[in-house]
Amino acid sequence: GSTIGILGGGQLGRMMALSGSAMGYRFVALDPTEDAPCGQVAEQIVAAYNDREAARELAQRSDVITYEFENVDAGVAAMLMEESYVPQGSELLYTTQHRLREKRAIEASGVRVAPYREIASADELRAGVEAFGTPCVLKTATGGYDGKGQWVIRSAAEIDEAYETLAKAGTELVLEQFIRFDKELSVIAARSTTGEVKTFPAAENIHVDNILHLSIVPARIPDGVQREAEHLAARIAEGLGVAGLIAVELFWSEKDGLYVNELAPRPHNSGHYTMEACRTSQFEQHVRAICGLPLGDTSLLTPVVMVNVLGQHVEPLLERMAQPDEAAKAHGVAPKVHLYGKQDAVHKRKMGHVNVLAESTDKALQYIEDTNIWKV
Ligand code: ATP
Ligand code: MG
Ligand code: MG
Repeated sequence: GSTIGILGGGQLGRMMALSGSAMGYRFVALDPTEDAPCGQVAEQIVAAYNDREAARELAQRSDVITYEFENVDAGVAAMLMEESYVPQGSELLYTTQHRLREKRAIEASGVRVAPYREIASADELRAGVEAFGTPCVLKTATGGYDGKGQWVIRSAAEIDEAYETLAKAGTELVLEQFIRFDKELSVIAARSTTGEVKTFPAAENIHVDNILHLSIVPARIPDGVQREAEHLAARIAEGLGVAGLIAVELFWSEKDGLYVNELAPRPHNSGHYTMEACRTSQFEQHVRAICGLPLGDTSLLTPVVMVNVLGQHVEPLLERMAQPDEAAKAHGVAPKVHLYGKQDAVHKRKMGHVNVLAESTDKALQYIEDTNIWKV
């Protein structure tokens, strides 16, 4: 069998390796943390992501290279492409590392994003806030995640402070119109090196403190919106010449329709529901796509709600797992627990997730509500 090298050894790499191992592939991950989540189930090279020598070793040990985060150092990406086979290339990384480049690429594939402006000074911000009205959202172009690196401007009085705070990051800034969405959705599309494209059913995502809390599938949206969201994601996958997965985050309002928020060129937290609820998981699909295998069937087998397990949820979850789960029986649901093997259960740290398979998403939501694990 061939060996797949992963730049990064977090939970996404771990689940990719678990899935791909079942298909006969070997995995080696490069990650600076000893005994990283992926290193526990695959081989690991312990070194910094931007360590050229370690990256060269990864390349030499791998037949195919992929990554599990988007902030791959450009020099490392170029070197890996020279030394090994990186089907995803470096252009997709270059595009998705920067919000302005990403938005332009989405628009170039004929898909709408929330109205935005590049901001290079406090005066430009003033003009932008004037044009979009309040609230509006100022974001750093690079490096943001979990809502870090952004500021919701609620009044003109905040302009100077918002500008000064975010400009400190030293990257370009982008101002976005505030979209009054009814739902946040995501669609994961896969495009194989052969050009075949398939999309997974849209997930309805609920965030708490800017961290994903729930993904509800099927999303509680009209069928037409579901189809359109999948269509837009497929279009972006084609337009950007994706190999592997692309996760497309969207806003939907009944009044104005769909806008793309942002992209992630990798498996996505909101796609973890596919592990038991779809005929093919996002991780298997990613391996298929980068290895040029025919893509798997993405049909949904059952309604599902994925709930993230953060540091503060681990203890109550383990207690529940040790006992017969009466609530699960009462609601007729099957909670499938996934833990990532991380040691320190720090508050808000992503430690795992539970896919609650159910007859309906309402029953799964009721179970999650009744378990008292996710109240904090
Ligand atoms: P992630 O962890 O998903 O990478 P991020 O830090 O890159 O997050 P975004 O996804 O851009 O940030 O924004 C975080 C959240 O803020 C969104 O999920 C959405 O709830 C809200 N948000 C962002 N931009 C807008 C907007 N233009 N209008 C309304 N809400 C927004
Ligand atoms: Mg993001
Ligand atoms: Mg996001």
